[in-house]
Amino acid sequence: MMLLTKKMIEIRSLLQTVGQSESLTLPSIVVIGSQSSGKSSVLEAIVGHEFLPKGSNMVTRRPIELTLVNTPDAHAEYGEFPALGLGKITDFVQIQKTLTDLNLAVPEKDCVSDDPIQLRIYSPNVPDLSLIDLPGYTQVSGHDQPAELKERIAELCDKYIQPPNVILAISAADVDLANSTSLRASRRVDPRGERTIGVITKMDLVDAERGASMLADKKYPLRLGYVGVVCRIPQQSTGIFSRGSANITNAITRNESAYFSAHPEEFGPGSDLDVGTKNLRKKLMYVLEQTMAASLATTSEAIHQELAEATYEYKVQYNDRPLSAESYLAESLDAFKHAFKGFTESFGRAEVRAILKHELDQQILNLLAQRYWNKPFDDLTPPLIEPDLLSELPRSDPDNPLWHLKLDASSASLTKLGIGRLATTVVANALQAHIDRLISTSSFSAHPFARQTITQASASILRDLSYDTSDELEICIKPYKYRIELEDSEWARGRDNITAVLKGELRDCDAAIKAVESDLGGKKKMKDVTGFIDRVRSGEVVLEGDGTGGAGGFSSALLRKGREAVFLRDRAEILRMRLMAVRSKQCASKKNKYYCPEVFLDAVADKLTSTADLFLDAELLSKFYYNFPRELDTRLGRGLTPSEIERFAREDPKIRRHLDVVHRKALLEHVLTEIEALRQLEAREKRVASRG
Ligand code: GDP
Repeated sequence: MMLLTKKMIEIRSLLQTVGQSESLTLPSIVVIGSQSSGKSSVLEAIVGHEFLPKGSNMVTRRPIELTLVNTPDAHAEYGEFPALGLGKITDFVQIQKTLTDLNLAVPEKDCVSDDPIQLRIYSPNVPDLSLIDLPGYTQVSGHDQPAELKERIAELCDKYIQPPNVILAISAADVDLANSTSLRASRRVDPRGERTIGVITKMDLVDAERGASMLADKKYPLRLGYVGVVCRIPQQSTGIFSRGSANITNAITRNESAYFSAHPEEFGPGSDLDVGTKNLRKKLMYVLEQTMAASLATTSEAIHQELAEATYEYKVQYNDRPLSAESYLAESLDAFKHAFKGFTESFGRAEVRAILKHELDQQILNLLAQRYWNKPFDDLTPPLIEPDLLSELPRSDPDNPLWHLKLDASSASLTKLGIGRLATTVVANALQAHIDRLISTSSFSAHPFARQTITQASASILRDLSYDTSDELEICIKPYKYRIELEDSEWARGRDNITAVLKGELRDCDAAIKAVESDLGGKKKMKDVTGFIDRVRSGEVVLEGDGTGGAGGFSSALLRKGREAVFLRDRAEILRMRLMAVRSKQCASKKNKYYCPEVFLDAVADKLTSTADLFLDAELLSKFYYNFPRELDTRLGRGLTPSEIERFAREDPKIRRHLDVVHRKALLEHVLTEIEALRQLEAREKRVASRG
């Protein structure tokens, strides 16, 4: 029959992992008693070790679900806290410490918590049992304990002593049974005394006759009877060397037998009284097995019902689609890599070229503004008198060294810009932005951990590649720093392109003017403000002070906007003039490059771009496209432990719910199969017993 209990306890543990449902469990033995009734001593005598929290300050604040597993062929004795993942703990002092910490973690103001601590103890010396230790009843609250402590403990105990659990009601022999809190509590929920076992501890503290009469009690009859014990742990076994390792069962039972055999008249074989820890163990095993077996049918029915619900949810919500954390990760990763592959096909040399060209166009506009178009002013004081170089440009003498100098300096600025770094960074940033976009449209978007992992993977590859690439690219464009030859076709292309760029810039400028105009409150208002600023700048109006507090009837905010409008207006004017110049006959030929710096610089930028895009395509793109999927496999595939994969999948609430249903369903099916096997075993044993 032992095997049955073991199996049922296993099933009970399995059901604990299914979830909270009250009906979804097998009965256990619930241990109740007042503080100092000897409750811990009884449990420790059964286990054979001191392991329960001790101390004056109410150390048991949470239920302890204690599962004892008999391991007949093993020598080692150890405990496990399945929820904590601490592994096997062979030192029972350590178990005691852990239990104390877990209990003391319950905030003082909450008094007690009904969240149970699960502890399993494996030993060749323990019986297969499932016991729940509850906080001891208190009579009076200590001065440092909350007033409602007494009620909270009683409520907690009441929750656990409901049927079909067996109640182990502990009372000390030196207290009148009429005053036993545990018996009173048990009577409330089990008035006919059908599922309560009475334990009278400290039998040695009363005279044998009185002790015997308590065990034979008729006032509070219990169908399962009373057991008298002497569980005080003998002093010598608590010595420093034996604590935590030696088994104390023998020491206790020796002490106990000595007491009971010293009183043969009261407790001898003829007395018909149940005494001794050994008998208590036997009784507990027998009663638990009977109770669990009797509950099998009801529990199995409850599981069937739960399973039906889970199956229905699985079908309706998830279309019977199987899912595991591993399969979810594998599918997500595949889909992501597929999307990445698609991206690699759409992002090649041409795209790199476009990005680079756009970047260099902006650089050219800056250079032109600096060296040719500049009309500096940033306050209301008149500008320095400068020759109007721009209007001279088309008419200038091609042999004038000023124009040679300007163009050479501009072109040198461009080639010495650090194109290697700039181009590599721009393309690497573009790639990273695309990866970010791919993540946000993938199923990884709901997973902070995966998002971070992927982003880090691409960032680290790009960082490593960029290092060498930018240096090597710089070497590739080195020749252009010294000499630039242009073909006619290159000149023509540059002319077309810069025309488009200038037009685009002009469009942007006009749009910005419109925006400022509407900020200023219309055309007229803008005209008034800009007119005033122009007059100041030409020296026609002299400001008193620096104008920061407003001037000419305009507030300083209006003047600021006005300056912006003047700047944009001047810029648009220059752009229009330069557009005309670029489109003029003079700029049609590369011979006139000094008149047409825009065209020349654009053609240079184009040459630089062609070198850079070829190089970046080969060095940055191809290598990234090769390495990135492999890095993903390492970081998200092989690199993760099963629990990390589980944690990853559960980050998405939708997936978490799906996984829960799948898991719950599988677990319930498993438990049902186990129960079915158990019932067959039970039937077989019954047949054998009846034949025997
Ligand atoms: P709990 O508060 O109900 O868990 O009680 P404990 O098991 O800690 O016991 C309270 C006190 O009673 C301790 O000092 C024990 O040593 C002592 N004690 C427990 N059982 C016996 C017993 O059978 N005989 C005697 N004389 N003392 C006992």
